[in-house]
Amino acid sequence: MGKVLIIGAGGVGSVVVHKCAQLPEVFEQITLASRTVAKCEAIAAAVKSRLGREISVAEVDADDVAQMVALIRREEPNLVLNVALPYQDLPIMDACLETGVDYLDTANYEPIDVAKFEYHWQWAYRDRYREAGITALLGSGFDPGVTNVFCAYALKHLFDEIHTIDIVDCNGGDHGKAFATNFNPEINIREVTQRGKYWEGEWHEIDPLSVHQSFDFPGVGEREMYLLYHEEMESLVEHLAPKGLKRIRFWMTFGQEYITHLRVLENVGMTRIDPVDFEGQKIVPIQFLKALLPDPGSLGEGYHGKTSIGCVIAGIKDGQPVRKFIYNICDHAETYAEVGAQAVSYTTGVPAMIGAKMLLEKRWQGPGVFNMEQFDPDPFMADLNQFGLPWHVADCDQPIE
Ligand code: NDP
Repeated sequence: MGKVLIIGAGGVGSVVVHKCAQLPEVFEQITLASRTVAKCEAIAAAVKSRLGREISVAEVDADDVAQMVALIRREEPNLVLNVALPYQDLPIMDACLETGVDYLDTANYEPIDVAKFEYHWQWAYRDRYREAGITALLGSGFDPGVTNVFCAYALKHLFDEIHTIDIVDCNGGDHGKAFATNFNPEINIREVTQRGKYWEGEWHEIDPLSVHQSFDFPGVGEREMYLLYHEEMESLVEHLAPKGLKRIRFWMTFGQEYITHLRVLENVGMTRIDPVDFEGQKIVPIQFLKALLPDPGSLGEGYHGKTSIGCVIAGIKDGQPVRKFIYNICDHAETYAEVGAQAVSYTTGVPAMIGAKMLLEKRWQGPGVFNMEQFDPDPFMADLNQFGLPWHVADCDQPIE
């Protein structure tokens, strides 16, 4: 049915390639390209030994639009699936525009010198994508991604009006390291150390990690969760506020050990994103820190425990107040056995594959630039159950203050 060009050979890239390779009837040809071609070759060898499928590999610096355009012209994909870093979103979108090819990513664009998570840079491509007759699907990971689809599903089937959404994200797993991040350390630390923000008619800011409470996560148990800003809130406010949404917040769990390490790293300046002089050269402390920390793609072996992520949604159905929890539980050891990756990479890579499948099968169609909640949630929800991320809906009486 189609040919996909995947950019980025990290933890998420490896899962996406494995999951696409499991579906040869949809993904007839797969090319994996990244900055370090040796990482692409290692993933290709793993796919060959696990699934017996050949995939092509290539080297590309995706910051360079001309290189991306040349690669797309050579490979002629139906879709470019971007699981490199958020810094590459705009150059890859530019290359797709120039070559007339559909685009998908899992994280919104961020400028490298400011930790800002906003869609406006990518939404600015809406008219140009529409005019070019191509489609961009933004944020097709778990959160953003599946959480947006959960909200669309709730609005379609469970509620007449949605009033509040609390997205709750727990990684109850243990990788045995004193400090490691489950996806790219630079992006993860930029996200967690910024000021918290939630929406209730307007945006409210709080100090980083200053609001927290306990929540009993299915499959994991009680954990302390912290209010953070997360990018899917921006698009959900845009699309659901006109339909009655009054408040949306995002919560993520952290262990005390993680928070202590993070505080020390911040206090000594190791999370700075601006260049500093060191022995005659410029280094960016957070990039140096990334070089020291474990590669998220290497955390899978021995990782045990589960992730438990979902949306607690309150609103009205048939004139009655209703509160529901839609969630997925994912087991680190099971995902490692299936594709050699921990559950955070898996819960991102599987929805990226399904989003690509939606576009290739033309179940989701543009043209234009879209967030996940803008499309019919049903085929995506069905595929989550089929391809490794089964979901559950329960009545919810746990308070979130
Ligand atoms: P990694 O750091 O493990 O992998 C990133 C990959 O991108 C590496 O292979 C890296 O190459 C490659 N890359 C970086 N810069 C370039 C470039 N200029 N040109 C080509 N390739 C480049 O990250 P993850 O796999 O953990 O995360 C991938 C993406 O997924 C990130 O954008 C992250 O924000 C997103 N994500 C989304 C989630 C969601 O739920 N929506 C959750 C988790 C992650 P090299 O090896 O040379 O450094």
